[in-house]
Amino acid sequence: MAKKIKVGVLGATGMVGQRFIQLLEGHPWFEVSEVAASERSAGKNYIDALEGRWKQAAPVPKRIAGMTVKECKPGLDCSLVFGALDSSIAGPIEQDFAKADYAVSSNSKNHRMEADVPLLIPEINPGHIALIDAQKKNRGWKGFIVTNPNCTLMGPTMVMKALDDAFGVEKAFIVSMQAISGAGYPGVASWDIVDNVIPFISGEEEKVETEPLKILGKLRGNSVEFAPIKISASCNRVAVRDGHTCSVSVQLRKKASVEEAIKAMENFSGEPQKLKLPTAPERVIVVRGEQDRPQPIMDRDTGRGMSAVVGRVRECKLLDIKFSVLSHNTIRGAAGCAILNAELLKAKGYI
Ligand code: NAP
Repeated sequence: MAKKIKVGVLGATGMVGQRFIQLLEGHPWFEVSEVAASERSAGKNYIDALEGRWKQAAPVPKRIAGMTVKECKPGLDCSLVFGALDSSIAGPIEQDFAKADYAVSSNSKNHRMEADVPLLIPEINPGHIALIDAQKKNRGWKGFIVTNPNCTLMGPTMVMKALDDAFGVEKAFIVSMQAISGAGYPGVASWDIVDNVIPFISGEEEKVETEPLKILGKLRGNSVEFAPIKISASCNRVAVRDGHTCSVSVQLRKKASVEEAIKAMENFSGEPQKLKLPTAPERVIVVRGEQDRPQPIMDRDTGRGMSAVVGRVRECKLLDIKFSVLSHNTIRGAAGCAILNAELLKAKGYI
């Protein structure tokens, strides 16, 4: 059996960091060799550094529990790092690792919109990894950074890609209902979220309105020409633990029936499925026929948390087609996507 690639998790104690630890346990290509977090955690065993914050159903893997948490500084014994750092400090830390010859697969917003940094959903824009070559040249780095997008836009963007390929998408109107885990741990205070909906999440609407344009854009030489789609988003925090649901209406360039739209969604597949990457879901978009699905508690783990689950596809009286879409925010929208990005990088010879 080929030797596994050693990987580190930056921000390993947080909500997304824990997902990395859980999803990487038993991974066929990658093995966690380092866990890193803030100065508060550094020097402690992983299990002690968690201070009771482990929020995954399975226990902390034994091999990881006793590992010493390091500071987030180059020198870690690995060649690839997954970034799950608070965005207030992620930017320069990730750059330091890329300068020091590490491949960085990041979840944080800091570098996503930089022209030479790939913003990847591997089913949609695998070709954008070619930006890595420009990035290394422009910056004189030995390593590089790739990013995955904001968790809320994950489901809507996968569906928009399926519809855009088939009919062209002109406009999208997105209303999100976002889980509490999206705010990290402890995140939103229970006093604020129980019995409540909060109609504001700082910076979220801007990300949902702009990041899909880069992801759905075309690679032209060393940069991405943004997709000419207009998106309007309204983002809400709701009392759900995991799984972001969005109500989406789209206007199409070429009119399509509800049946044709469903067919385009169900048939959508990408490079990860072709390459049979370990974390790729068999079905990228699962369309449910029941009138009351998708629902987070029932559908968020579809495709091991990596599928987008769509339901209630119907005509829209304002635009053309409307639907609900759910995706797991800490799996498909965070750690799972970053791992899939790294699998694509390995399959394409970048690591
Ligand atoms: P979180 O639960 O608050 O975890 C933050 C992590 O960053 C912890 O491991 C923390 O370590 C570490 N950290 C904080 N300050 C640090 C410092 N000065 N130096 C080094 N490490 C430091 O946050 P999260 O929800 O996991 O989010 C992590 C990143 O992923 C964020 O950028 C977020 O926007 C992004 N993201 C989150 C989601 C989601 O659904 N939650 C989805 C997509 C993207 P200590 O334990 O030592 O403090």
